[in-house]
Amino acid sequence: MQEKGTISIHTENIFPIIKKFLYSDHEIFLRELVSNAVDATQKIRRLASLGEFKGELGQTRVEVAVNKKKKTITISDSGIGMTAEEIKKYINQIAFSGATEFVEKFKDAGDAKEIIGKFGLGFYSAFMVADKVEIDTLSYQDGAAPAKWICDGSTEFEIKEGKRKERGTTVTLHVNKDSEEFLEDHRIQQILDKYAKFLPVEVKFGEKEDSIEDGEDKDGKKKWKTVKKDNIINNTEPIWTKSPSDLTDDDYLKFYKELYPFSEDPLFWIHLNVDYPFELTGILYFPKIKNDFELQKNKIQLYSRQVFITDEVKDVVPEFLMLLHGIIDSPDIPLNVSRSYLQSDGNVKKINTYITKKVADKLGELFKKERESYEKKWDDIGLFVKYGMISEEKFYDKANDFALVKNTEGKYFTLKEYEKHIEANQTDKDKNKVWLYSNNPAKQDAFIAAARDKGYDVLVFDTPIDSHFINHMEMKLDKTQIKRVDADNLNKLIDKDEKRELVLTDEQKESLKGVFTKAIGKDNFKVEVEALSPDDAPVTITMSEFMRRMKEMQATGGGGFNMFGSMPDTYDVTVNGNHKLADKILKSVADETKEGLAKQAVDLAMLSQGLLEGKALTDFIKRSTELLGK
Ligand code: ADP
Repeated sequence: MQEKGTISIHTENIFPIIKKFLYSDHEIFLRELVSNAVDATQKIRRLASLGEFKGELGQTRVEVAVNKKKKTITISDSGIGMTAEEIKKYINQIAFSGATEFVEKFKDAGDAKEIIGKFGLGFYSAFMVADKVEIDTLSYQDGAAPAKWICDGSTEFEIKEGKRKERGTTVTLHVNKDSEEFLEDHRIQQILDKYAKFLPVEVKFGEKEDSIEDGEDKDGKKKWKTVKKDNIINNTEPIWTKSPSDLTDDDYLKFYKELYPFSEDPLFWIHLNVDYPFELTGILYFPKIKNDFELQKNKIQLYSRQVFITDEVKDVVPEFLMLLHGIIDSPDIPLNVSRSYLQSDGNVKKINTYITKKVADKLGELFKKERESYEKKWDDIGLFVKYGMISEEKFYDKANDFALVKNTEGKYFTLKEYEKHIEANQTDKDKNKVWLYSNNPAKQDAFIAAARDKGYDVLVFDTPIDSHFINHMEMKLDKTQIKRVDADNLNKLIDKDEKRELVLTDEQKESLKGVFTKAIGKDNFKVEVEALSPDDAPVTITMSEFMRRMKEMQATGGGGFNMFGSMPDTYDVTVNGNHKLADKILKSVADETKEGLAKQAVDLAMLSQGLLEGKALTDFIKRSTELLGK
């Protein structure tokens, strides 16, 4: 038997196109060929278990080898093999329906992955890195003759009788000049580590050294010796393929370490397992995030039947859950197609919804069953939950039951609990419930203490996502305002229409305002004299909630507020007209004394806001020291 032929009339242009479009992803040739070998191995195992193959199964592992001298890479298996007829059928007539359509569509533009996926060009990706490819194969079928196929990357191929004696297939790539990087062991190891780590059939790549115990020396110390053993790339039974009831917490933690060796233990995890209406398994971990670097580096990995596909899971996983770690395995995600296609894919949408629901259910369950431990983890979980509430309406509704807020005393409340907690005391004259918060309890201590004196509760919102979260909550919650505790005078933050009489005449009020304005001497500080309690601070300096929030949103990338970012900070200076300092200033004779007192009071207010620095701070200290001596 010897035959020469052409691969298909329509495919003349395929090879240059494959080479061109697959350029950026050359390394996937190995994923494709190893996957084929794994498939062939699984098929023979299945036939054996069904009794349709009665011979010896033998060692059924896949082996990858590099021969640097001959410049070849071989991928061997003891799978079902192919007869010459099958090669013709499966390899020569490339497994796609419309070759003409293919050539037309991808002549000028296209997505490399799309080509492979849609047209089943897995095997042909070998030609991205090889000038010549050979297949040596022997089918499992009784009496089958070995076959050899050779193709030099043109559309010509040769098929003849082979010499192979063992069942299975060896694919030999004669690596081309531009691809010699793939003749380096470490490169192949790297690619296998990436794509083959959890394949269901053992993959061997050369040998590796290992230390084993070798008796004791004369002092009774253990001796070690180095031995060579097979370098097996993969863990063939990763835990996501098992049933949760067969797994312990330790198994999950070990697997996490296997995926992310340098990360802290996760907070908890969710084992995903569905088979209808789509197939999906996987494990999602809620990480304890130490820094931004980890956020970027550790990603969810997407697999299809244990073959690694990508860690770009955007569109498959809801955006707010991209921060989770772990793996998702689904043969139902169209992996090899472009993003726009993915977004409109029905299965992807269902998967998205499913994952969101699973995560919400798990959080709800943890909250209900183990509230105390849930609260302890809240500072870490909060990021996901808040992000989810902002970005997914469906998640918001569910999260209502388990989203928490924390107050300055370290107590946690659900949103409903909190509403109840503050309703009686923190409702203003217009029936708005006012939530007070601090983004920096240490710095805003004076304001928090003043609020507490009035029996008000103060929440802590001190993470970058909080300014977005606050905005969102105000939109969602009924008649609720959320204000930073130092945003204004307390009487104004929660305006209960309790009119206080100002002890000053209009004239005195104006005069006082003049003294302070002059003492400050800056346009961006607006002075007002107000009627407060004589016990309240003589002067408070605040930045309006609105202004500050716009600036914060700007700083954390909330779009559309550019104009606020470039505006100078403006502050409101509230002078307490009922404080005895007002009286003292008005009664002072010399202008210098008046301004000196005003300046001192303003600086104290600035100091309590952390606004006093540089020369102003030095001057203040000097002035205060002098006052002590007087
Ligand atoms: P796909 O794997 O998507 O079907 P490929 O081009 O990679 O597309 O392979 C085409 C066909 O060739 C496979 O479906 C299989 O029938 C056959 N084949 C490829 N590699 C092997 C192998 N190592 N052993 C047996 N059959 C193989």
